[in-house]
Amino acid sequence: MSATVLDGKKLAAEIQQEIAEEVADFIANNGTTPKLAAVLVGGDAASEVYVRNKQRACERVAIDSELHRLPEDVSQDALLHLVAKLNKDESVHGILIQLPLPDAIDASVILRAVCPVKDVDAFHPENVGRIVQGNPRFLPCTPQGIQQLLIRNNIETIGRHVVILGRSDIVGRPMANMLSSRGIGADATVTVCHSKTQDLAGITQQADVLIVAIGREQFVTGEMVKPGAVVIDVGINRTDDGLVGDVDFESVSDVAGMITPVPGGVGPLTVAMLLRNTLCAAQQC
Ligand code: NAP
Repeated sequence: MSATVLDGKKLAAEIQQEIAEEVADFIANNGTTPKLAAVLVGGDAASEVYVRNKQRACERVAIDSELHRLPEDVSQDALLHLVAKLNKDESVHGILIQLPLPDAIDASVILRAVCPVKDVDAFHPENVGRIVQGNPRFLPCTPQGIQQLLIRNNIETIGRHVVILGRSDIVGRPMANMLSSRGIGADATVTVCHSKTQDLAGITQQADVLIVAIGREQFVTGEMVKPGAVVIDVGINRTDDGLVGDVDFESVSDVAGMITPVPGGVGPLTVAMLLRNTLCAAQQC
């Protein structure tokens, strides 16, 4: 293995320390504590783990959190009612709707109902539009975490070719918008690939920075990567051997210059950015 491993867990701990100091200042200056309200519908095991991790992270930086659990068969109207209540609650600064929601509920309707200034996941159309226009209120947590990883490891993006595998609303599309915008950790030339892309390996081999978010276990192999490239693995796939990414770490780390591990790469940074956005919501930035 020749690649340098980018330690997302360590970086996330450093960022959380910074946030904890800012939260302490905020409480001292305002007499209120930032609060995140998380909404969990049903009993999906992975969602339970994600929400628990997010609540523990809140505790570590002294952000208050509250969890609203609703049964799998909750009606869309009942969920909308809860969102309206949280929108009105002045003690709540950030609202997190843990995805996925049950099939009977139209997630886009629920995400549109969250007040944009409390939308710490940045999924509301108003916040998506602001990102596209280069004037974000919040940056979505996973792409923001990846951008921080690039900036804080001095990984140049200006004029470099970033290839993103995956065009989801959560990762691929906002990541492409952010990295092709003007500014720090941006100004890249971005290509977005998806399941209909032809000659995928021919494109990934051109990437200076390759960001992979497709949800396909160990899909990207060493021969798909340009020697010396930076490879960011967003994927989280549950296997009998534990969590694995979308990147075949063994073969890719022989070719890449830098690589994120799974677990311990992008995941912890996503959680840190949720804390950052909740503090921002309280500060109304
Ligand atoms: P998603 O909604 O599952 O969409 C997958 C995307 O990958 C789609 O755009 C799809 O193309 C594309 N795709 C699928 N197979 C492909 C292939 N063979 N070649 C090229 N493109 C392909 O994506 P997501 O929600 O972004 O999740 C992706 C992965 O990241 C999952 O493993 C998820 O668990 C993980 N994730 C991790 C974090 C974290 O914090 N670490 C956060 C979010 C997600 P089409 O659009 O054409 O269908």
